[in-house]
Formats: sequence, C-alpha cells, structure tokens
Amino acid sequence: MPTPELLPCPFCGSTSLDAHRGYTEIATYQISCMNMGCECSTALWSKPEEAIDAWNRRAPGWTRIEDCPEEWKDGRLCVLKFIGSSILLARFKYCEFYEKEVWEDTTGRVVFNPDFVIPLPAGPEK
Ligand SMILES: [Zn+2]
Repeated sequence: MPTPELLPCPFCGSTSLDAHRGYTEIATYQISCMNMGCECSTALWSKPEEAIDAWNRRAPGWTRIEDCPEEWKDGRLCVLKFIGSSILLARFKYCEFYEKEVWEDTTGRVVFNPDFVIPLPAGPEK
C-alpha cells in the first residue's frame, strides 16, 4: 500500500515517521515519530487513514519550553506537552509557595518540566 503524505513531526520537525499497526485483537493504527527523545505519536485508530488524518491535523508552532517567547508568559492559557505523554492547559504565573514564576495547570497545581508549549488560540470575537 502506498504511504500517503505525512507532515513532519509537529514537535521536533523530524520526517522519520513510522505508520504501524498495533498488536491488539482489534485492528489499530498509529503514527509515531522515530526521533529518539521525541516519542510523539497519535492515539490508536481503527483505520490507517484515520491515524494519518490525526497526525496531519496536529497544530504547527509547538516550541521547546526553553525557547518559550516572553509574550506567551503573560498569564494567557497555553498548551503544554510532555515527551511521550499527554497535553494539558497551563499558564505562567507567580507562585507564592515557590516564590517564583511557574507553569500552573487550570486547577492551580504547579507543572514541572514540560517539554513543549503552544499558546491556546483566542476564542471567536463576539
Ligand atoms: Zn518528533
């Protein structure tokens, strides 16, 4: 089967990607980045085309946390991503307990060592 075009990894930019079938009783398909240390992958999908669509729908513009632009640290909601793990919403703000600015999730818990960040898009104007 010819491999449809896959966009580069939205996190590391790698084009070394693997489209593979999972090893469960139910047919599952997944796209994974093969760059060591990135470990980004889609969820499991029942059809290859669904996994490819999911991969290609990933938002561009993810930035390594250490390169986070200062304007994203103004208290706005951002999406944080951890290598090999899920994402969560957080904002950069001053924490009285740690006496410094930290990333806090929407429940007020401090988020340690996220790997990537992207600002949450603004909602539609009324
Ligand atoms: Zn990657």
